[in-house]
Amino acid sequence: MLPARTLEFVIPVFNEADCLDALLERLLTFRAATPGAEVGFTFVNDGSTDGTWARLVELAGREPSLSLVDLSRNFGHQIAVTAGLDHVDADHVVIIDADLQDPPEVVAEMYRRALEGFDVVYARRNVRRGESAFKRLTAFGFYRLIRRLCGVPIPQDTGDFRLISRKVLRALSSMRERHRFLRGMVPWAGFRSAEVRYDRDARHAGETKYPLGKMVRFALDAIFSFSIAPLRAASLMGVALVTLGAAGGAYVLYLKLFTTRVVPGMTVILLSVILLGGMQIMMLGLIGEYIGRIFEESKRRPLYFINELRGARPARRASSSPEGVP
Ligand code: UDP
Ligand code: MG
Repeated sequence: MLPARTLEFVIPVFNEADCLDALLERLLTFRAATPGAEVGFTFVNDGSTDGTWARLVELAGREPSLSLVDLSRNFGHQIAVTAGLDHVDADHVVIIDADLQDPPEVVAEMYRRALEGFDVVYARRNVRRGESAFKRLTAFGFYRLIRRLCGVPIPQDTGDFRLISRKVLRALSSMRERHRFLRGMVPWAGFRSAEVRYDRDARHAGETKYPLGKMVRFALDAIFSFSIAPLRAASLMGVALVTLGAAGGAYVLYLKLFTTRVVPGMTVILLSVILLGGMQIMMLGLIGEYIGRIFEESKRRPLYFINELRGARPARRASSSPEGVP
């Protein structure tokens, strides 16, 4: 008999104590309905302050298929997922949120597609229950903008809820940039992909851990770590302005040399100085975004630190060195 295939869930958790019991119950139901695979669950505690860790330890005491990774502080969702991926080794891995917005039942269909030979199976949202019109609208615009800017085919309306094969897991683990945008990194890595549609539920309990500020930072990370389109736009804008200026200059010169008219200048000069000054500062800020990122990458700090592992195997790559160990 072939050894059973392994399917591991990676679940980042940040202050989700009230979701854990319901989540585990649904996950275990899924496992019971999937006899063909050895299913495990790796929870990454991303610096929770609400008793999440204690609850996880308690649940893991009862349920041996739980592995726990406790980060030294809150590193953010993308890094928490990365830490989880570093600590699992399975034929297939599912990245799923802890708040039950991503229904575990959908994984059955995703897993079926994976067994057909797809290396990435995205879960694509039909509707989003319990999310504000503002969040839906910004998410809608965000995905379309990113897709245009980034030059990789980022699937629309998908979050990080997805299933990946071991090949993709290895690929992702080898990409160690610190401003991580997994939704872009997965399609960038390539491999065959498929999608499964689902209805996104409302949160089981608690509130979003992505307030507006974090969402904006996430969007900026996506744009500036994945695209140099803004730099190109800056150069294009510069070229356009220079052309405009040259044309204007030529016209003024023409008036001066060949006619008796003069251009009344003060207002025009003032406005163009303000406009050009503003644009220059803006472009400097834009370049600063990239330089700041280069600076941060150049420090080559580990992406996260581990406080404690319970049941989880040591990372396939050392979190403390960007090169890592195989
Ligand atoms: N999360 C995390 N670290 C953070 C923020 C969120 O690990 O700094 C986890 C959170 O516990 C949840 C998932 O990431 O499992 C998605 O977060 P959330 O549901 O708050 O985001 P939303 O669905 O509102 O976009
Ligand atoms: Mg959520």
